[in-house]
Amino acid sequence: FLLPITSFNGWAQTKPVQSPIDVKVAQLVSKMTLEEKVGQMAQVTVDVITKGKDRFSSFEPVELDPKIMDDVFNKYKIGSILNTANNRARTTEQWYKIISEIQRVGKGRLNIPVIYGIDAIHGTTYTAGATFFPQQIGQAASRNLELIKKGAQITAYETRASGIPWNFSPVLDLGPDPRFPRIWETYGEDPYLTSEIGKVMVKGYEGDNNDISSPFHVASCLKHFLGYQVAASGKDRTPAFISDQALREYHLPSFKAAIEAGAHTIMINSGLINGVPVHSSFKILTQLLRNELGFKGLVVTDWGDIENLNNRDHVAASNKEAVMMAINAGIDMSMIAYQYEPFCNDLVALVKEGKVKTSRINEAVTRILTLKFQLGLFETPVTNYKDYPKFGSKEFEDAAYQTAVESITLLKNNNNILPLKKTTKVLITGPNANSMRTLNGGWTYSWQGEKVEDFASKYNTMVKAVQNKIETKNVSFIPGVSYKMDGKYFEEYADQMDEAIEAAKNVDAIILCLGENTYTETPGNLSDLYLSDLQTEYAKKLSATGKPIILVLNEGRPRIISKFEPLMQGVIMTYLPGNFGGDALASILFGDENPSGKLPFNYPKFPNSLVNYNHKPSESRSVVEGVYNYDADYNPQYEFGFGLSYTKFEYSNLKLSAKNINTNDMLTISVEVKNTGNREGKEVVDLYLSDLVASITPDVKRLKGFQKIDLKPGESKTVTFKLDKKAFAFINADNKSVVESGDFKVSIANLQSPFTITN
Ligand code: BGC
Repeated sequence: FLLPITSFNGWAQTKPVQSPIDVKVAQLVSKMTLEEKVGQMAQVTVDVITKGKDRFSSFEPVELDPKIMDDVFNKYKIGSILNTANNRARTTEQWYKIISEIQRVGKGRLNIPVIYGIDAIHGTTYTAGATFFPQQIGQAASRNLELIKKGAQITAYETRASGIPWNFSPVLDLGPDPRFPRIWETYGEDPYLTSEIGKVMVKGYEGDNNDISSPFHVASCLKHFLGYQVAASGKDRTPAFISDQALREYHLPSFKAAIEAGAHTIMINSGLINGVPVHSSFKILTQLLRNELGFKGLVVTDWGDIENLNNRDHVAASNKEAVMMAINAGIDMSMIAYQYEPFCNDLVALVKEGKVKTSRINEAVTRILTLKFQLGLFETPVTNYKDYPKFGSKEFEDAAYQTAVESITLLKNNNNILPLKKTTKVLITGPNANSMRTLNGGWTYSWQGEKVEDFASKYNTMVKAVQNKIETKNVSFIPGVSYKMDGKYFEEYADQMDEAIEAAKNVDAIILCLGENTYTETPGNLSDLYLSDLQTEYAKKLSATGKPIILVLNEGRPRIISKFEPLMQGVIMTYLPGNFGGDALASILFGDENPSGKLPFNYPKFPNSLVNYNHKPSESRSVVEGVYNYDADYNPQYEFGFGLSYTKFEYSNLKLSAKNINTNDMLTISVEVKNTGNREGKEVVDLYLSDLVASITPDVKRLKGFQKIDLKPGESKTVTFKLDKKAFAFINADNKSVVESGDFKVSIANLQSPFTITN
């Protein structure tokens, strides 16, 4: 009996091809004991192996505890370490020493390197002297994909300069709820924007070919898969209720795009969806992530989330049962496995009892070792800071400054009060005016960002930057309101308020820097989205002096300002712009730079109208003069995509390649944009699509393209977009991506054009 040639070829082609790394990994796995394999699956915080006293030190030498290290690495064979909340920043040299020591002790009998992971989320944030960019939300406002990618490349370089090859970034969660404390870690409320940025972040971190063996690249970690940041309460790690349809329509695209861009690792959502903790969800971790999306990389838990299945979420009756659930659902590595000893013992026992299959363990360990080989850790377990001459260089700092400039968003400019003349006498005031801490936000030198002042003194606060920009004698600074600095992040006190109001009477303009103190995760949970009473009162009192006020917002989420916004002549949103945010702001205030940032979220006006730009037509229904009006309450303070410039742009000639297309056709859309003002400026051209009738109520509009262009005065450019099936599709009631025939509308700025799709 002979097989026909064709089917023989077919068989030959489907036989999996083993890469040299696959061969090495398989050989290694075959030599490992169960205990060694399980150790690879555990990740321990560096706190555990650091002597207590030094955990909170800054530049003091790092002291690892040899006794605990022996237990962690030699007895339990732990394969991964991560940074921690408690540790403060280190110099690159200190990092080199600590990681060299970890690698020396940690390699074990089989010479397997340890993998160190860190949250270098807006630059290499745990390394002194590293370059800090605006936090993600500000980067999204810049809409400049090239700059964002450059930021990721620089972060990869400086993270490797710190001896660290794995970065828990980017956050690809949507940020549609302004109440949530991690909005500033997202790229805002739009799935398309988040997807486009996510792709360039992965390439920036991992390189265009995802060659993470390069000593200048790191493995990225997409987080937090899936549906984080939309908890019903608006508070961190509280239950979310999301339909499968919504999960696929809004939350999945950014992860899907970044997986397609080759991301090597992914971290899981710490919360629960529809009552199921994501860490125990086979449906999400295996059926969706592996079987459907084809993700081949490593899946790591979030902090202590296996234990949470037991003691927080009560779906497991013991920690051991929690381990079984999580590993069987598809977890490869446990970040902070309660205490590492019981995790390892429990998992070994579960395998011996047949409750976790050896094949599942082998699969997880194969992925972990593959990543270690791909990162080149077997050859170079720690990269040496001496090989990174560009660390903290002017070139890198310029990129961070430029990103801050392009992220800052001008929201109001009555009577063109801005830019201010350099001869203007100003009072700069408010709790955020003289703080490096609030410019940076959380995850900066430490988890809550509270130690920033120790490290950032060489950079300029808003006050210092304004003093550098104009004559010092024209700048007065009095805080007026200050934050408590002792961990009560939202407590404020009146700090020379009367003096500040007195001083305001003698200046030409007031630069009022309000916002939030730093916070990260649960400590940032909020019970009132309005900006604090004290800051509101202060703004009103200053306004009573009759002097024009430029409100500078420095905050991680849009705190509602409607109670005093009408009293402000200018409003500038800085988000959390990083170490060069003060300089960038001063340049914009005094006209050396032209603002070009665009809001990546709807800035709400009222707490009961938290509506996203891409809402359903009836979402803000109310009664107006006795008649039901379906969109009457859609009244954001400022809308998604909004942002002013010091020049003017005019749009004309919106053209579509066809007005009637088939499902599989490509639609080309072009528009002409002209700078009709008198200074050069950058403009973000947004393309929105509206599906007019569909089997699921369509959103009023959706962003489907954007380009940032630079125009000299009088210059015009034609901007072209190409849309295909992907742009026209939506997720239907059967959770399938479909394009339905019917009428659509394209909108760019004030121009609109209809077109029809025929199946
Ligand atoms: C956060 C993650 C982070 C991890 C490690 C967790 O609390 O949710 O985003 O990567 O800590 O620091």
